[in-house]
Amino acid sequence: MKKIAILGSTGSIGTQTLDIVREQGDIEVTAIAAGSNIKLLEAQMREFKPALVCVYDESAAGQLKINTADLDSRIVTGMDGLLEVAVQPESEILVTAIVGMLGIRPTIAAIKAGKKIALANKETLVTAGHIIMPLAKECGVPILPVDSEHSAIFQSLQGAGENRIEKILLTASGGPFRGRRAEELKEIQVEDALKHPNWSMGRKITIDSSTLVNKGLEVMEAKWLFGVELSQIQVVVHPQSVIHSAVEYEDGAVIAQLGTPDMRLPIQYALYYPERRPLSGDKLDLFALGRLTFEKPDMETFRGLSLAYEAMRRGGNIPTAFNAANERAVALFLERRISYPAITEIIEACMGEATFVAEPTVDEILETEALAYEHIRKVFE
Ligand code: NDP
Ligand code: MG
Repeated sequence: MKKIAILGSTGSIGTQTLDIVREQGDIEVTAIAAGSNIKLLEAQMREFKPALVCVYDESAAGQLKINTADLDSRIVTGMDGLLEVAVQPESEILVTAIVGMLGIRPTIAAIKAGKKIALANKETLVTAGHIIMPLAKECGVPILPVDSEHSAIFQSLQGAGENRIEKILLTASGGPFRGRRAEELKEIQVEDALKHPNWSMGRKITIDSSTLVNKGLEVMEAKWLFGVELSQIQVVVHPQSVIHSAVEYEDGAVIAQLGTPDMRLPIQYALYYPERRPLSGDKLDLFALGRLTFEKPDMETFRGLSLAYEAMRRGGNIPTAFNAANERAVALFLERRISYPAITEIIEACMGEATFVAEPTVDEILETEALAYEHIRKVFE
């Protein structure tokens, strides 16, 4: 039996990870964590019998204890609880499926404890990639990408040996507002932005996909995961989301991974790598598709992507300022407290406001986050 722990078991990636567990039948879930959704957590506890469960919210944890008094699971709470789940001795793999920079400390702790990381939580690499990647190397721990594009790149690199790649072709659907002009973005409402053309995902990443901030985060994620220069990553808008990404080798050969848009494949690949297992669901039908199309991203209208490139070029703690500002701005947009274009305005303002730190420690990363939040509170809320 393979043993896994999941941070964010009640979310989009978390529940699809559990679908794989159900389908394959040879994975034991030893620990799970979520924010406050105790109804779903209880159902997961009854089905998968994890020994350890973390509910971040303390009062929700208290209620869950009462509701599951008949079960043997131990229930913990807060950041200490997340850290316990991350390093739980029984598990071999930690699936990081929580949203945002909250994942930094548990991911670092898990690597130090020798856990393989199935990484969905891209914000952690964006902000702390310079700490996490060397640490994983030092500890001999693989970071297995769950993000579909990065999984596609990883799959396209299998068998590469010492061969070098010329560039990464990072595909993007372009989101629901592809083709719109800047002045048309002003009217966008929460409901419009939550409609992704190809993928069903959590709310935050769905908004990020619509602003192209998600693609910006993915450029940074790819840089850390695959150790390439920023200039070697090319974003290609491909509205059908069939080519999940590709690599170009030095001889011009382009190797890509294709498939239907289904996150269960990259999740399963990360859990069983290098083994491939059968997986239920629709398979790619090229005849039904007919054609695949490609275009350049519109980085002037969707400034989230150009700001991400700028953040990465400046380096240090600037990607943290970019990411923290986006996390807060997206939350405010979802609460209908700011307009849609204000998301990128806030990111730009916080990047300008940040005091540069070249090699930020975890504390300095969290301080940059706190300063960005403070700036937003003063100017935009
Ligand atoms: P969701 O919003 O669907 O799920 C988030 C999960 O995190 C939930 O289980 C939630 O618990 C939990 N959570 C929230 N706050 C806390 C907290 N304070 N402590 C512990 N757990 C918490 O997100 P997604 O699954 O969409 O995304 C997860 C990560 O994966 C993100 O980094 C995203 O960028 C990345 N990703 C997602 C993809 C997708 O298809 N969804 C694709 C590629 C990457 P609760 O339910 O209790 O709130
Ligand atoms: Mg992705």
